[in-house]
Parts: sequence; C-alpha cells; structure tokens
Amino acid sequence: MARVLLKNVTKKFGNVIAVSRLNLEIKDGEFMVLLGPSGCGKSTTLRMIAGLETPTEGEIWIGDQLVNEIDPTKRNTAMVFQSYALYPHMTVFGNIEFPLRMAGVPKQERAKKVKEVAEFLGISELLNRKPSELSGGQQQRVALARALVREPEVFLLDEPLSNLDAKIRTQMRFELKKLLSYDLGITTIYVTHDQVEAMTMADRIAVMNKGVLQQVGTPNEIFYKPANTFVGTFVGSPPMNLIEGEIIVKDNKTLFNAGEFLLELPMEMEAREKVILGFRPQHVEVSKDAKEGFVKGKLLGIEKLGVESYGHIPYGNLEIVVQLPESMGTSVKEVYWKPRADRIYIFDAKTRELIY
Ligand code: ATP
Repeated sequence: MARVLLKNVTKKFGNVIAVSRLNLEIKDGEFMVLLGPSGCGKSTTLRMIAGLETPTEGEIWIGDQLVNEIDPTKRNTAMVFQSYALYPHMTVFGNIEFPLRMAGVPKQERAKKVKEVAEFLGISELLNRKPSELSGGQQQRVALARALVREPEVFLLDEPLSNLDAKIRTQMRFELKKLLSYDLGITTIYVTHDQVEAMTMADRIAVMNKGVLQQVGTPNEIFYKPANTFVGTFVGSPPMNLIEGEIIVKDNKTLFNAGEFLLELPMEMEAREKVILGFRPQHVEVSKDAKEGFVKGKLLGIEKLGVESYGHIPYGNLEIVVQLPESMGTSVKEVYWKPRADRIYIFDAKTRELIY
C-alpha cells in the first residue's frame, strides 16, 4: 500500500509560511497533481514527502509508516526534477545505474535492471551516450529511468516537462501518464503550474494558493464546481469573469443585479447582498445587434487563442472577456453581451466561496 497521507502539515521558512495546515490523501496508485501559481507551496509539499524538507508541524505517512523522521533514501520514493539533474560526466547507463550502486545492488543485477528499464522507456540505444549528446526529451526519459530503476512505491515529479518545447511536451504528457498510471499503476504526485497539464493527466487535482489548499477534486469537479473564485479564475482559459452584485427576488424570479444589467437566474435563491457572479468567456451570448437584457460593450481588442477569438470589453474598472462567434468577423467595434444564465456561478463576495 503506497498511499500518501499529509496530516495538518505546515512548513515555515522563518516568517514565510510556505505550506499551511495541509490535509491531503493520495490514494494507492492515484495520479495526483498539485496545481497552483508560483510560490504557492507545491514544491515544498513535494520536497517534504521526499524528505528533502522537514515539516514544521504535522505528519507525513507513506503506506502505514510515519515518515517524518525517516531518511529520504529510506522512503521508497523517487523524485524527478525540472532540471533532470543528470550527472554530466556519466553515460546514460551510468546515470541509470547510479541509484542501484548507491543501494549496494550487485553488478550483474544492476546491468540487468538498467537494460530492462531502458528498454521499457525506449532508450536502449542511448545507453553509451553522455547527457550532453541527448535531446531534451531523451534527457527527460533518462531522468525517468533513473528514478524508476529502484522501483519506488511513490513517484514524485516537479514540473518535469517545463524545459521541453511545446510539441514534445504534449507528447511526453501522454507518455508519462500512460507509463505511470496505466503501465505501472504507481502512486504519483506531480507538481505543475500548468492547468492544461493538470487537467489532462490528473486523476485528481489539489489546487493550492499561498500555502493553503483550495480544493481537491477530479479535473471535472475542479472545472465545473470550483470551490471559490481563486479556483474559478485559475483553472480555465481565458479566466472566468467575476462581477459583483446582489441577488434580488422579484415576481417570484431570482435575479442577479449588477446595476448595469439584470440577469434572470434559472434557480431559486433568497435575496442576498454582496455576491459575485462568475461566468466563463465561453459561456456568454454575444450579438452585433441590440437585444433585450444584453449589455452594450465597446470592444477594446480581440485576442486570438488558436481558432477562437475573444473580445475584451471594459466594464466599470474591470475588463470582461467574451468568446466571439466565428461569424462576427474581426472588424466589429461594439457588441451586446449577456452571460448564459445556465452556466453561471454565484460566489459569496466576502468569503469568495461558491454558493451556487
Ligand atoms: P514554484 O512553482 O515557483 O516553484 P511553488 O508553488 O513550488 O513555486 P515553493 O517553492 O514551495 O512554491 O515555495 C513556497 C514559498 O516558500 C515561497 O514563498 C518561497 O519563496 C518559500 N520558500 C521555499 N523554499 C524556501 C527556502 N529554502 N527558504 C526560504 N523560503 C523558501
């Protein structure tokens, strides 16, 4: 059983609270992604699990063992870093063999294991090369092989794809997921700030911000039921729009009133001041012509993201982003827009937590 359990884990560096009271369970065989912006504490969390940092408070369990006091080399975890950290003077063979040598594995067995793992990762023909003679993707595979050769129970990866160019990154994303989840079924904890990576690879995602866990859930749950405005705006691209207003009830109808517009909501809610309406740029009706209930907006600019176009519209001191219908062309200067009432979120303006 290689489940990993973090109980109330806090890590302080002087006055900086890098991780605050973190409770998280990674199930045996699960692919968990720690997702969050730079500095949110995800690497520190990973390093504590590996034993490279000691928690200030709390407990870390791997399987049924409390590992707080256990040396990193005895934890049965393997870590792959962003930089790969290959030994430049050693061949690929030497690099992969190294952890086995450290563990005192006899020579013949070492050679056998290196060959097996190299074959598994499709790098057998590279064994005599030095790291400097490898492409980024090949170096990545060698780093993986070196981590896998000891057959760890828990695999820890810290932004392992961020040094690769976009095309190889997409390919490696798929390969890594296949290898770790489908071929090996190994418990994996994967750190990234890239939401696409998180959404495509994770069984579950733990979203962190400023050292605090915001939400744990499947990619679907994180995307469709964000726990708060942070998760709502961090996941999804371009980010979710947020507008402050109030809920009013009139003639048995629930309405969101933002002053500049009134939106009839599909659900029943009690009147409530100080809420935030959240809606994704993809979930807005946009028209060239004036329509009942639509808000008029000047287009500040059009942003192309792949085949989709997004219009930026000033709104108070905010900017609303809406996806523009393909038929609209790029010469429009003014549009009328309205969030799709069936795809909105309501957050509490004070706690910023999801109400509906
Ligand atoms: P990134 O994606 O940039 O690596 P991260 O989410 O992994 O960010 P951490 O590296 O875990 O974040 O850092 C969390 C916080 O702890 C940051 O404010 C960071 O500056 C601080 N921190 C991390 N390591 C140390 C250290 N050794 N000494 C002091 N402060 C540290």
